[in-house]
Amino acid sequence: MKVTAVYPGSFDPVTNGHLDIISRGSRLFDRIVVAILKNPEKEPLFSLEERKRILERATRRIPNVRVDTFDGLLVDYARRLKASVIVRGLRALSDFEYEFQMALMNRRLDSTLETVFMMPSETYSYLSSRLVKEVVRLGGSVEGLVPVHVAARLSKSLGTASGKTVRKGPRKRSGEKR
Ligand code: ADP
Repeated sequence: MKVTAVYPGSFDPVTNGHLDIISRGSRLFDRIVVAILKNPEKEPLFSLEERKRILERATRRIPNVRVDTFDGLLVDYARRLKASVIVRGLRALSDFEYEFQMALMNRRLDSTLETVFMMPSETYSYLSSRLVKEVVRLGGSVEGLVPVHVAARLSKSLGTASGKTVRKGPRKRSGEKR
């Protein structure tokens, strides 16, 4: 039997942490559907359509991945897809309580759906879309934390030049020779 997994989230925007989970999931399941939640309570930086485009570009080299959007209950959406697994990423203990509640609620709503938690590489275990946006907003570099096209898109939206402030050493004082 082919196993379809659904990986839901906001992906505003996708980071290398999400991509780490997607590629691990793609090796484990026959098909993984990355499902962007239309959540009217959150005010995203990127529209649903743009998040989808960004994700499609970021995942185009992974063959068994599809990107989709959904609203309403995740369990209803998963049923429509004939998915039997929900994938979620666990970064630190701080993710655990919320994820635990969600997984048990989803199991209560549909006992045939299993939630599988996956850990990213430790390089990404502190990474979140929120933090990435904050760093770019303040003029910092997110090189290595998001795909290059995502960094460029973030800079465009948040009005900063991408990657301009990675400091390799102490800042030179004015008048100092280079
Ligand atoms: P949500 O709004 O549902 O938290 P996110 O887009 O922030 O949506 O995250 C979607 C899923 O990806 C969640 O399970 C989250 O824990 C996981 N995730 C987010 N960032 C990372 C990361 N850096 N490494 C691993 N998993 C992550």
